[in-house]
Amino acid sequence: MAQPLLEVRDLKKYFPIRRGVFQRTVGHVRAVDGISFTVAQGETLGVVGESGCGKSTMGRTILRLLEPTAGEATFDGADLFKMSKSQMRAMRRQLQMVFQDPYASLNPRFTVMETLSAPLKIHGLYPSPKERERRVHEMLERVGLSPEHARRYPHEFSGGQRQRIGIARALMVEPRLIVLDEPVAALDVSVQSQVLNLLKDLQNEYGYSYIFVAHDLSVVRYISHRILVLYLGQMMEWAETDDLFAHPLHPYTQALLSAVPVPDPDQKRERIILQGDLPSPANPPKGCPFHTRCPVAMPVCSEQRPTWSEVRPGHFVACHLHGGPSTEGGAS
Ligand code: SF4
Repeated sequence: MAQPLLEVRDLKKYFPIRRGVFQRTVGHVRAVDGISFTVAQGETLGVVGESGCGKSTMGRTILRLLEPTAGEATFDGADLFKMSKSQMRAMRRQLQMVFQDPYASLNPRFTVMETLSAPLKIHGLYPSPKERERRVHEMLERVGLSPEHARRYPHEFSGGQRQRIGIARALMVEPRLIVLDEPVAALDVSVQSQVLNLLKDLQNEYGYSYIFVAHDLSVVRYISHRILVLYLGQMMEWAETDDLFAHPLHPYTQALLSAVPVPDPDQKRERIILQGDLPSPANPPKGCPFHTRCPVAMPVCSEQRPTWSEVRPGHFVACHLHGGPSTEGGAS
């Protein structure tokens, strides 16, 4: 892998739990609890896990749409978490986000022209109205829409078209890294593949880096170079996509993969059904966070948190079956 464009170290995002008339803090929801990874120029990092595993919070915290509790995030050498609000506003030109629900993320009272021109005005790009209009038309064509669509409002489009507008809005300012938060989850399967192919084409053409957050592993497999598996805000496994699918090591990854449909019935995996509910991130289990649902848990698993071990080049896992125990504090 090339030099990292983004490097995240030990990222934490805790939300306070407040109770009583004085709203005293009585605990914390540990939505993101010590996550470290890198993303290279032109790379797609897929981030997967069940809903509530902290993957969306992680993306928002890196972009400082939420303030981090602890950790570091370095983008092209710049420390994102030490930036002032105005420095961060300028930096957002290079760091954009696409949201899951394209309808909710577009202002229904704005035409497409107004929506797509807004980031250009904010960042002082294409100052003349004529230039802005040309840029909007160009971008609409690039995402598979037509310049005539610029005069319309969000309700006049299908879900897939609205997501194309959401992608166009992110690309207007020529970013380098885009966080895509479940970008195809609200779309029909046939439309999903069109949007995924569009994202791949744009990456090949412009070299964008993506953090692609999703719960659907088959979607993540299609678009990602590497995949990071999260559970209760913590890292379970991280590997190149083909390696993860061929040799999943963590029992949680194995359970997620067992639910992915395979085209060849001879290669069908036995489905692993996880017992029990996802524990609360306000009170995560001691030791390995997955031990309450792990089909192969051992006595040590409820006592000691596993180390984050590189079991072969570029393939990391946090599991006592694949590395030595450590004290609480865990993955690094
Ligand atoms: Fe299962 Fe133990 Fe590995 Fe956790 S550390 S995944 S409980 S075997």
